[in-house]
Amino acid sequence: MAGLLKGKVTLVTGAASGIGRAAAIAFAREGAKVLVADMSDAAGHETVKMITDAGGEAAFTRCDVAQPADAEALVASAVKAYGRLDGAYNNAGVAGKIARTADDTEENFDHIMAVNLRGVWLCMKYEIIQMVKQGQGGAIVNTASAAGLVGSHGMPAYTASKHGVIGLTRTAALEYARAAIRVNAVCPGVIDTAMVAGMVAAHPRLKDALVSVEPVARMGKPSEIAEAVTWLLSDAASFVTGAALPVDGGMTAR
Ligand code: NAD
Repeated sequence: MAGLLKGKVTLVTGAASGIGRAAAIAFAREGAKVLVADMSDAAGHETVKMITDAGGEAAFTRCDVAQPADAEALVASAVKAYGRLDGAYNNAGVAGKIARTADDTEENFDHIMAVNLRGVWLCMKYEIIQMVKQGQGGAIVNTASAAGLVGSHGMPAYTASKHGVIGLTRTAALEYARAAIRVNAVCPGVIDTAMVAGMVAAHPRLKDALVSVEPVARMGKPSEIAEAVTWLLSDAASFVTGAALPVDGGMTAR
């Protein structure tokens, strides 16, 4: 692929690490200007440096997607830096603590929902306002999960939040189809990132279990999600909207 996102202004949340960083790098490689957004300043600036060192164009903005003012400022930052917004990847998310339904806490539940579900809605809200104002359509991709398609042990709020992301995605896709704003979700399987490393560090027995749910018998790489998202954001996916695309090594085909 080359030039798939040529001339487009994009933003990526959760772009300081893992899937979001890989996506920001892929978008820039394909010719997009990228606003790198995250709560983590240092690692966010590192992503920008990786892009600019490779000859791409990127800027960083600090953003907590769970804060309405930050979500609004995120879109304003993209417009301030690059004049418009064509594509957005709402990817920031947290795993939270692992606990079965009856053992989970209100604090854990509320935190996961605030970031993973409300945060995606807040970002979409301001992205859509901007895209409608521009009047030339746009594309949005949200990170759901294989856990947005099937149940998963020990992650009730996470699983519900990712099912919710698919609901938000389908609804916005229907609402804004006539405005030529495409809205899709990507559903990663088990991907080798800091999020999974953190879960394995807290529960070492999870390591084998996480690989064993993957029919391909390995974890995915962040770049394998980034390639799918790049395509979904590009004009090559012009007839795709409202989709929840599994990129999961066959995990949800069982
Ligand atoms: P990661 O921990 O490597 O990266 C997540 C990034 O999001 C971090 O840079 C973090 O600082 C940022 N972030 C967290 N809360 C934030 C907030 N409130 N505002 C802004 N940024 C915030 O994890 P990852 O695996 O790359 O996860 C990215 C997305 O992919 C998440 O939505 C996650 O739920 C989803 N996902 C991951 C997997 C997996 O196996 N790794 C599988 C399915 C879905």
